[in-house]
Amino acid sequence: MSDNATESLWENLRSALIARVNSPALAAWIDDMRLEPSADDLLLLSLPTRFAMDWIKDHYRDLLDYELKILAPERQLDFIVRDPDPDEVDPLEQPTQLPTQAPLPVPALAYKRPPNVDLPNTPLNPRYTFETFVRGSSNDLAASASMAVAAQPGLAYNPLFVYGHVGLGKTHLVQAIGHQVREQNPAARIQYRTTEEFVNDVVEGIRYERMEAVRAAYRDCELLIIDDVQFIAGKEACQKEFFNTFNALHNLRHQIVITSDKLPNEIKDLEDRLKSRFQWGLIVDLQPPELETRIAILQKKAKTDGIALPEDVALLIAESVRSNVRELEGSLIRTSAFASLRQRPITLDLAKEALQGIIEDRVQLTTEGILKQVANYFDVKVSDIKGRGRTKSISFARSVSMYLCRELLAEPYKAIGECHGGKDHTTVITACKRIQKRKDDTDVAPHLEQLTRTLTG
Ligand code: ADP
Ligand code: MG
Repeated sequence: MSDNATESLWENLRSALIARVNSPALAAWIDDMRLEPSADDLLLLSLPTRFAMDWIKDHYRDLLDYELKILAPERQLDFIVRDPDPDEVDPLEQPTQLPTQAPLPVPALAYKRPPNVDLPNTPLNPRYTFETFVRGSSNDLAASASMAVAAQPGLAYNPLFVYGHVGLGKTHLVQAIGHQVREQNPAARIQYRTTEEFVNDVVEGIRYERMEAVRAAYRDCELLIIDDVQFIAGKEACQKEFFNTFNALHNLRHQIVITSDKLPNEIKDLEDRLKSRFQWGLIVDLQPPELETRIAILQKKAKTDGIALPEDVALLIAESVRSNVRELEGSLIRTSAFASLRQRPITLDLAKEALQGIIEDRVQLTTEGILKQVANYFDVKVSDIKGRGRTKSISFARSVSMYLCRELLAEPYKAIGECHGGKDHTTVITACKRIQKRKDDTDVAPHLEQLTRTLTG
């Protein structure tokens, strides 16, 4: 059979295998399998490590044999460990002496703990545990996956890749994994490092010629947590180190946990081979928490810190700070500090005062906020604007409020009607037209101007 025929046989076998299994971990290992030259009655495949080869044999040998029998019954399947790619050489896996015969990489599982492992260990924040992490639909999958990983490091999902915007609980969640693993096994070798620290370790390792020790320290971990991996973008030497560390740990079935503010594919200037490694395990996301979760987070935090937080204040803060849990907590702390400085209890009025400037900007830029501001300005009640009363002043304030919601927020008429006490959208259209027509009149223009200025800061 010609080389081309063997290659297309391998292609067909690969496709058959991919079609039969649906596992990212296997897909990555299929990618790592190469066709090697061999006698005509063989199909010889190579894998980068003995561990990978054994794993494929254990799990997929039967399936491969079966498919091969269909495609080319005269052939036998065989595997070898191929010479390591110089770029991917793992010093710990390299034989120390030149082999006399064909090079035989030391199997990854024969790895021994290196001496003098002296990386500073970044302490975990004692507050960042699963107990203090409030779950809701915005973070449920990420929390479940993290707990599964903590229960069985290296076995459940490897790597676990957690992504989400800043302040949504990535660090909290991955440190909770660290706490949990340590609780189950106090001797577990755990490293939590921010990407910045990792980069520093590598840079200093190179500068002070102790890269071997740094490498050894990272590869010694049973659980390695790398926080904010997006910061490794564009740093080539560090990416190479991380790639080799990743492979070494993964081969040992040691757990890797990574966080990022973006999906692997969205991180610019990140090597493709790292992107692909990041997708081997499970990718989970953290979304901004919904209102109930925000309230629950505030209440939990208040309880932990011994802050007496009335329900209406929790609601005020939760409604104003939506997209960042760190800011949500910040608003609570600020309110609490404000109260103790003035030696007053936390009330709605005090909270509004404490959070002036922080929440007002946000409150005002909702329909509800506009409505309140307009009511305040014309000295009428919010309930009057939402009501059915038709006195001149109330009806004018109501129209202005609807008009501003449309102008400043471009809200749909229907939504504006709903928030103004369930008015019909035609009512809103009529009101907006009426104000639009008169907006330059001397008895209308100054009001609109003043309100717009307050509302938009
Ligand atoms: P990130 O790493 O995504 O920027 P952090 O993990 O630092 O976010 O979280 C910011 C703050 O919000 C931390 O104090 C954290 O404890 C808190 N936090 C975030 N999500 C939750 C949650 N679901 N329950 C309780 N606290 C949370
Ligand atoms: Mg973080």
